[in-house]
Amino acid sequence: MARSLEELFGGRTLGVATLHGKERAIGPALMKVLPLGGYQAIADVDTDRFGAFSGEVQRTTDPLTACIAKARHGAEVSGMDLVIASEGSFGPYPPAPFITCNEEWLVLLDVRSDAVYHYRHVSLNAVAGGEQCDTLAAVNAFAQRQRFPEHQLVLRPQEKWSTGNPVIKGIADAEQLRSAAEQLIAAHGSCWVETDLRAMANPTRMGVIAECAERFAKELATLCPACNAPWFRITEAVPGLPCLGCGWPTQSVRAFRRSCNSCGHTVDAPREDGKTGEDPGACGVCNP
Ligand SMILES: [Zn+2]
Ligand SMILES: [Zn+2]
Repeated sequence: MARSLEELFGGRTLGVATLHGKERAIGPALMKVLPLGGYQAIADVDTDRFGAFSGEVQRTTDPLTACIAKARHGAEVSGMDLVIASEGSFGPYPPAPFITCNEEWLVLLDVRSDAVYHYRHVSLNAVAGGEQCDTLAAVNAFAQRQRFPEHQLVLRPQEKWSTGNPVIKGIADAEQLRSAAEQLIAAHGSCWVETDLRAMANPTRMGVIAECAERFAKELATLCPACNAPWFRITEAVPGLPCLGCGWPTQSVRAFRRSCNSCGHTVDAPREDGKTGEDPGACGVCNP
């Protein structure tokens, strides 16, 4: 018989394996839904060695694997047995590649029961970009578009980082931006300026991480109707929403399938927006 949320998590302290203040976004969201005793950042964790945004360390594995490795590292250095880690990336949004999206992963590692829980969240709300600039005016124009100084910036000579190149991170005031940009432009003819994507330097990303944590907590606290295990989570979007004109099953999502990690039970839940039929314009029969 699966164990209840209270038996699994009751009174335990959650370690947050993060360097960048992310415990503020993650801890409260999980505390709200799980019967935890508290949360704390793991101080000695070195998550940057798993990949950094500003190019010095390239991530070599997929984000879920990297995130699990971070959580295990956090458990090792802290001796804590309940650890959450986060892994974020930015890139073109596949259905509309000119839009940048922010993908965030969270992994909760329970060393006691040897369980790994995870959640992926993709948001179109992203302040992220970079530009090669030959003048201070161009740097300032870019900064304004990226909601500087609320969102901090990174400067270096070229987009591609190579050993020995200076990298100035966490630029948060106009004077610091001006002097660093002028020095780089004087030495190299131009400079690369980009948004600092570390969570504490990018409040939009911090918000997306908080949103990810809230959704993850909700999934963790959803219990399997067959065996009562937690994390009865959405594993699949099931296509086949019927056409309103002819009834043919279209490619559109008909239901979201929840699956139990413990007993394999599945349930198809209707769409949250209540939509039960598709417009004939999106039907392969009515509108081939
Ligand atoms: Zn179950
Ligand atoms: Zn149709």
